Amino acid sequence: MTSILIAEDEPRIASFIEKGLKAKGFTTAIASDATSVVPMVFNDSFDLLLLDLGLPEKDGLVVLEELRGQGADLPIIILTARDDINDKIAGLEGGADDYITKPFRFEELVARINLRLRSNQTTSTTKNTVLQVCQIVLDLRTRKVEYQGRQIELPAKEFTLLETLMTHPGQVMTREQLLDRVWGYDYSPGSNIVDVYIGYLRKKLSSEAIETVRGVGYRLQG
Ligand code: CA
Repeated sequence: MTSILIAEDEPRIASFIEKGLKAKGFTTAIASDATSVVPMVFNDSFDLLLLDLGLPEKDGLVVLEELRGQGADLPIIILTARDDINDKIAGLEGGADDYITKPFRFEELVARINLRLRSNQTTSTTKNTVLQVCQIVLDLRTRKVEYQGRQIELPAKEFTLLETLMTHPGQVMTREQLLDRVWGYDYSPGSNIVDVYIGYLRKKLSSEAIETVRGVGYRLQG
């Protein structure tokens, strides 16, 4: 059974999420204050954490940093009432897998949870050499890429960029994350190299394959 930890101080929201998730067949637990989140994650085997950023005792971003710093590798989805884009970027860079802004539709939350659980499974259990996201197939061994059944040629950086997006399907990747993972060293912060290479990929795949998340980064739709 899949268990989800809900770190949320607002009782009304926590119980709304808990009721909904239980109805969907998940097991749940609630951490209503920030200090209990880290011990609960390490003492129990949760499959996913929903983390409210606005926790009274300690900022959710600090909790996130502690968790990742201590090696917690479960998927984490940030829940936030803050629509400040900087918080979202900080969250993603701090190791969150996704975020959802309050108020949200419950169906959207469930869809994001399922997406994270699925992609976590494929990355952790198979470690196989062929990645597939919708209509894109990428073979790490032969370095061949197929889109909608036709083979496409990708130079090294474009291949690595696509590989990076494919290992995080449906997840928003910031420009900084992509720069770091694909180019591996510091470009000047104003560099538009990521945008340029996304443009190359869109030309070879399709313009809809990669979604621009305004002010944040990119998300692979496949
Ligand atoms: Ca809160």
